[in-house]
Amino acid sequence: MPARKSDAYTRARRNDMSPAEWKARVDLAAVYHVFHQLGWTDGINTHLSVRSPENPNHFYLKPDHLLFHQVTASDLVKVDLDGNLVEPEGEKVNPAGAIIHSAVLAARPDANCVLHHHTDAGIAVSSLADGLLPMSQHALQFHGHLSYHEYEGIALDAAEREGLQRDLGQNDTMMLRNHGVLVCGPSVGTAFATCDNLETACRSQIMAMQTGAKLHLPTKEVQDHTAQQYKRIAGGRADTVEWPAMLSWLDELGAKYAE
Ligand SMILES: [Zn+2]
Repeated sequence: MPARKSDAYTRARRNDMSPAEWKARVDLAAVYHVFHQLGWTDGINTHLSVRSPENPNHFYLKPDHLLFHQVTASDLVKVDLDGNLVEPEGEKVNPAGAIIHSAVLAARPDANCVLHHHTDAGIAVSSLADGLLPMSQHALQFHGHLSYHEYEGIALDAAEREGLQRDLGQNDTMMLRNHGVLVCGPSVGTAFATCDNLETACRSQIMAMQTGAKLHLPTKEVQDHTAQQYKRIAGGRADTVEWPAMLSWLDELGAKYAE
């Protein structure tokens, strides 16, 4: 049976926008809805962004006041890489979001999407001295290339941008100590797939640790081998199969993201 196809990119495209710009907006609105469905929200807080395909110095965030499941492609707010509002006039975004996302997108021209959340599992692992352990197949995707950024208080000071950029380096994933996680990627689909694996890795580690039993880890050789395997299949079918499947799931749920 053929996979269900979403018509989200054409369904209600605003004709004042190019197909690429509208698609970027639809994907970003959709990932806010997916976060809502997965319970990865924190009220109106935490933030997800996508770079404008037409102007690499601009990116989109949700309007600060909207809950994740209320976000539509038309609602999104454009911000520049200094964290200043571009449009629409008078709209507000989360101030920490403007700082964190502008820092990452400015330093990483290869990244077009940044996802940041505060799930219980992500905060818990970010607060462990040893951080994410090479315990599960999911965790081994991040083995050897996971960054850590020390907690400095709520990210309201633009001076933190430099430290965020330095700590992330060329990695796509960073634990924000005592705070949550941050993932970036070349597309919304790839960044989401990474974020999903990281969340599962964090959740399963916390569950295993909660038993109090001694943990069994794969050998160092197998850890390195699996990390290499992940490198070879990176990107894979995240954009072509997994993300379209998420869009069709949202459509089945009646989520109004592509408006
Ligand atoms: Zn945060």
